[in-house]
Amino acid sequence: MKLNFISKLINYGLWQGASSLYIELSSEGLEVDYHEVNADDLLLPQRASNKFITELNSLTNAQKLESGANISFKLQTPINTRNVYLTSVAGENHKYLLQVIEPESTAWKLSNLGMDSNILRNIKQHLKTEKTKGLITISSKNKDDKEKTLSAFIHELNKLNIDILSIGKLDKNIIYLDENQNWLKNIDEHDLISLLNKHSENVVITNSENENIIKALIKYSLNSDKLIILSINSESSHDAYSKLQEKINDKGLSKNINFILHQESFKHLCPHCLDKAEHSSYEKKSLDDLSSHYNLGDIKNNSYTSSGCDKCNYKSYNGNVLAFEVLSFKYPHLNTASIIDDAYKKQNLGIISANDLLRISNI
Ligand SMILES: [Zn+2]
Repeated sequence: MKLNFISKLINYGLWQGASSLYIELSSEGLEVDYHEVNADDLLLPQRASNKFITELNSLTNAQKLESGANISFKLQTPINTRNVYLTSVAGENHKYLLQVIEPESTAWKLSNLGMDSNILRNIKQHLKTEKTKGLITISSKNKDDKEKTLSAFIHELNKLNIDILSIGKLDKNIIYLDENQNWLKNIDEHDLISLLNKHSENVVITNSENENIIKALIKYSLNSDKLIILSINSESSHDAYSKLQEKINDKGLSKNINFILHQESFKHLCPHCLDKAEHSSYEKKSLDDLSSHYNLGDIKNNSYTSSGCDKCNYKSYNGNVLAFEVLSFKYPHLNTASIIDDAYKKQNLGIISANDLLRISNI
């Protein structure tokens, strides 16, 4: 049965900004108390109580919920589908608390990229405490992965209340210099820099890899008090550094880079159908070679695979996870071992497969 009546009561609250409410079945009728001072509370006639009880009974199989018991159900709002938790707070009074749970945020955050906790802590600390100016470079072979990480940086800077100017469209909450980069593509370096100087935001971020824009921004980062965050298409953090150097030959560059964050994307093994992997003798040999080449631990005996299940639609993986390496000449405490090391840790935990580890190792 559809929860028409209960949905209406909740949606009326949401419309007024209240995402939780009490419902009480009293002798006077059905009292609805929204948790938002400005929302209108309701006192509905007795027949409303009957409607409520009928719909509630269709959710539970019992006639009455024990005090403290709760159930959840889905609610269609004009915007999306939400989960509602209903708790019986006083069984004998027929009083219920209904809470609408926010849908899980889909925004990329530094904490959901799959970053090792040390890297995560260092980067967050760096953004928070340094008088951050100069350059941060996000390096990857994959454009979507770079944008994910750029969005995560925006999210982190927003939390710190730092104003951001974007070149190109990245996130709806920041100010764009040129949303589609149409006229900026051919802009002269000096014109771009004088344009940036007119803006007061402390951070300039871009997903553009346009040669003109990148060159101008690197130069700008050398002589301004702003933090510039850009991305570059490269194979490793050292490769990214060489590419930055090729674009602008300046001795000050290494001291101007806060850090280069290089990342590589892997298929995330489905945890619901995960099992120990059996390798052929040929594979075992390759895995041993990989282990000794990079001085890693035992790979072949700590190897996992997923066989496919209904949770992963029989794909055997569940989205992607990133592995990282950080290179910094200016802040040595930010440096990490090579990306293989980070990927190996993930492989050993059953997050990625040994074959995918081999794929990026180039041996
Ligand atoms: Zn699965």
